[in-house]
Formats: sequence, C-alpha cells, structure tokens
Amino acid sequence: MATLKILRMGHPVLREKAKLVSLEELRSPEFQQLIQDMFATMEAYEGIGLAAPQIGISKQLAIVGIPEDNPRYPDAPETEQYVIINPIIKILDTKLQGFWEGCLSIPGLRGHVERPRKLQVDYMTLEGSTERIVVEGFVATVFQHELDHLEGKLYIDRIKDTRKLAFNEEYDSFLCPDRDKDDKNKEID
Ligand code: ZN
Repeated sequence: MATLKILRMGHPVLREKAKLVSLEELRSPEFQQLIQDMFATMEAYEGIGLAAPQIGISKQLAIVGIPEDNPRYPDAPETEQYVIINPIIKILDTKLQGFWEGCLSIPGLRGHVERPRKLQVDYMTLEGSTERIVVEGFVATVFQHELDHLEGKLYIDRIKDTRKLAFNEEYDSFLCPDRDKDDKNKEID
C-alpha cells in the first residue's frame, strides 16, 4: 500500500466535476488497489474521509471512516469504513447545523460551515451493488464535505461568514475557548 500525495487548493482537479465510475473500472485490480491506497493515505494523515479528486483522480469515489478513539476527533461517533461510489444525495432534513471543518487540501485552516443535518445517500459499493444509507449529525457533515469534492466544491465555498475562517493556531487561541465542546473542534479530511 502506498501513501498518496494530496492535492492542495489551487490544483484544477479539485475544481472539476468528477466522472462516474463504470462497473468495468470498479472490477479492475487497479481500482481495488486505489481503494487500499486511499485508506492508507487517510490513515497516514489521520483523516476521517478522503475523496478521489484529492489524490488527483477525477472519479466519483470517496471513502469515509471514523475510527474509535481517534485523537483528532475525540467526540466524533465511530463509523464503519465506507467506500462510496457514484453517490446520489437526498436531503432529508433541511435544518442547518454548523461545524468547524478542515480539509487536507487546505492545510492549516478551518472554517465554520452550515449544512443540512440529515441526508440519504444512494451509492454503488465496491462489490458493484447499490446501497442506501441515512446519516445525520456530524457524520452527515463528513459525507457532504467528501461528496462536495466530487462536484469540484470545497468547504470554503460554503462559508457564509468569512470571519469564521481561521488558521488552526488562531482558531485554538481565539475562536475555540472550550475545546471540549462537542461541535467546536472538527476536521474532516
Ligand atoms: Zn476536504
């Protein structure tokens, strides 16, 4: 397994709409290897999600997995490891919730983003079958952050109040006086 290089904001691939993955592609050894490498990369960076465009592959593919006892996300609920291919999102609850998000493609910064709090995602699994999941709370934010990458969107595009965009150190010093608070210290990938 290899740790892959992560593209940073400014790279044009991060702004492209990613292409659908075909069944043929899905079944290729290269694709299976890519998934392994993406998980290795996500773990190396202690991320909880990673989208294919972030490693320069403009395909509708993202992974999400929140491990138990991750030091970077002590309050985040543990999830299984998801491989999400060709997703279709449906918002189930339009009420917005806000979290401070970070992104491996925008290192050193975080920003407060409001997103719908509950959604349904239909997607193709690694085996080629169709799956539907319903996610809410912080996990819903993680999914929306990752699936935005497949549309060429970054979290900074969704910040309504740019005063709530900060470097990590300043965030820690000024914007997050109580780091134990549940929704104040979250990064995505
Ligand atoms: Zn990201």
